[in-house]
Amino acid sequence: MSQRILIVEDERAIADTLLYALATEGFEPEWCDLGGKALEAIQGREPDLVILDVGLPDLSGFEVCRRLRRFSEVPVLFLTARDAEVDRIVGLEIGADDYVTKPFSPREVAARVRTILRRARPAQASRGFQMDAAARRIAYQGALLDLTRFEYDLLRTLLAHPGRIFTRAELMETVWAGAEDTQDRTVDTHIKTLRSKLRAVAPEADPIQTHRGVGYSVELP
Ligand code: CA
Repeated sequence: MSQRILIVEDERAIADTLLYALATEGFEPEWCDLGGKALEAIQGREPDLVILDVGLPDLSGFEVCRRLRRFSEVPVLFLTARDAEVDRIVGLEIGADDYVTKPFSPREVAARVRTILRRARPAQASRGFQMDAAARRIAYQGALLDLTRFEYDLLRTLLAHPGRIFTRAELMETVWAGAEDTQDRTVDTHIKTLRSKLRAVAPEADPIQTHRGVGYSVELP
């Protein structure tokens, strides 16, 4: 299956050039002109790599990357127009994988994409869990979980970084962004129902850990 590349770039002409070059190289490129829309698209269906312009009209590429890293480890290749931006990409730990300065040759971008994908970390070992992000389904110990929308997003977020402790505030912001009718106990309530669904499959294993006063993590054996 060809690898999906999301291009986040507000300049149509640049996006078109990249779409063409990447499609020619056998990738499956998609285009998004705003940072906010890109984040939604990535949450809905994670691409294999994101090409991210620093200068976007709504959020800066840096901000997009920062928010992205809360829920995803997808490789990011920055497009930048100014040397000052390069300093930030290199100097700050914003989780970028590489950058290309404008003007660039589309072939160079395609070559960088290929290099990044080749060295990209293999998917986090999610022992016992099988993710199908496209269908928004997660199987656990071979059994397909019957999850609500929020339970799915919650589990997917935790599974993206096994061992990392997510605070309630982080989970609220990632999973319940834009949702109405949330309460203080929303995260805890959903963790509880999620746990009982996991326990129904494997009573002994308890992959979701509570960190009292802090938040939750998924621990994988
Ligand atoms: Ca731009």
